[in-house]
Amino acid sequence: MQNICHLIGGQQVAGTSGRTSPVFNPATGTQTAVLPLAAVAEVDAAVAGAQAAFGEWSQTSLARRTALMFAFRNLVAENATEIAKRLTAEHGKVHADAMGEVARAIDNIEFACGLAEHLKGSHNEAASSGVDVYTVRRPLGVVAGITPFNFPAMVPMWMVPNAVACGNTFVLKPSERDPSAPMLMAELFGEAGFPPGVLNVVHGDKVAVDRLLEHPDVQAASFVGSTPIAHYVYAAGTSKGKRVQALGGAKNHMVVLPDADVELAADSAVSAAYGSAGERCMAVSVVAAVGDVADSLVEAIKLRMEKLVIGPGTDLGSDMGPLVTREHRNRVAGYVGSAAEQGATVVVDGREARFDGDGFFLGVSLLDNVTTDMDAYRDEIFGPVLSVVRCDTYADAVQLIADNPYGNGAAIFTRDGGAARQFQEDADAGMVGINVPIPVPVGYHSFGGWKESLFGDTTMYGPEGIRFYTRPKVITSRWPEPATSTVNLGFPTNE
Ligand code: NAD
Repeated sequence: MQNICHLIGGQQVAGTSGRTSPVFNPATGTQTAVLPLAAVAEVDAAVAGAQAAFGEWSQTSLARRTALMFAFRNLVAENATEIAKRLTAEHGKVHADAMGEVARAIDNIEFACGLAEHLKGSHNEAASSGVDVYTVRRPLGVVAGITPFNFPAMVPMWMVPNAVACGNTFVLKPSERDPSAPMLMAELFGEAGFPPGVLNVVHGDKVAVDRLLEHPDVQAASFVGSTPIAHYVYAAGTSKGKRVQALGGAKNHMVVLPDADVELAADSAVSAAYGSAGERCMAVSVVAAVGDVADSLVEAIKLRMEKLVIGPGTDLGSDMGPLVTREHRNRVAGYVGSAAEQGATVVVDGREARFDGDGFFLGVSLLDNVTTDMDAYRDEIFGPVLSVVRCDTYADAVQLIADNPYGNGAAIFTRDGGAARQFQEDADAGMVGINVPIPVPVGYHSFGGWKESLFGDTTMYGPEGIRFYTRPKVITSRWPEPATSTVNLGFPTNE
């Protein structure tokens, strides 16, 4: 049984609170590690470590910061397989999904490598006679990141590289479910040469999060997780005067128009709904089938589901692994039952799949004729359950998305360019896919939803990340013409 430590001021520090949380391998159901849950004093030590590192780090040249960021990027790339193994061991996702996660993490680090460009200010000469005005972007100080279980390597990289590139120091509180991958990333960060204390990792639960949100030396917090906690974190942090960006849950709709390529739409729906066992905030959980496409689409999805191989993520033949915990698996299965009771057609019932051993496996489910009053439609299930809502018209599908409280992503499948262009305008969501089911932006655009999928006014990573982790300082300067009588500037004279 492994004992996981905090990482404070560059040192591995054992927990002292006496409170712990078990870490499981979801494919076997066995406990593999004990995680310390920080007390207030341990959070304070991590913040003190970050605060102590801030002065020197914020003065470090852009050239040095860039060199360290490149070194970190290369170390993550060299260790991609080991990071992926840790993801599979504690999250359960299959190896290909885990490698994909690491690739997206690297994408974000690479954006931060361009920090000298991102931190360019702006300058106006001669705003008035002899007066120049320029804006520089200054770091905030110590910033905190609180991250979810579903992308334990990638989501911290939505935050840490940009925050540190801007001259801040960081305290990360990763999910307690799968802490080993973020710990390895933090160790590689130190190995790259970043000074101790620039990145600290403190493990914990609500106690740690609450302390980070009230600590007077924490200037800002980035959060990714479920909507109720995102809302709580936003309210608690901003009530203490902190800058907060809090990304919440999702219920992403994929609209399929009657003219769509049904084979492409079915392939996309299956990979977007069941990839990573549906535990993705950009997973498609609702197909809005418009008009007469529904029957053929449901049939095409069902055929593909029969071919999905569900098994341990370490088996390279597996398409889908287990869910993260036993409780979550049972909760997800409950939605299939409630949908059946509330009148949905259960086309494929994942509860009927049988698996050897005690892993947290669940088969894939497809629900048809789902309506907006059913629990399976209203709640974020966050598991391998896909609902089909039949819509008479395009306008009905757009209205369905608009009426949903979440607004993370939305996608449309069509061959009609005009309809696609209209959808990009009509879709009430922060990220839109056109014949792309999971429109996660690349690292040089920013990520974030609308409505209850985002609290705060800054989305995450990319240019918005730089904006979030800096504050502007505007300098207005006046210099009179050089006084040649007192300073010899070497100008030619008439003498
Ligand atoms: P979660 O909200 O349970 O936990 C997220 C973080 O908050 C964890 O670090 C956890 O320790 C902490 N936390 C949990 N309860 C808390 C409490 N009462 N007070 C303070 N902190 C608390 O989310 P999760 O189950 O780890 O992750 C899944 C959720 O994250 C889904 O809802 C998913 O949609 C969402 N998510 C959203 C995005 C996005 O970009 N919008 C990305 C990934 C995941």
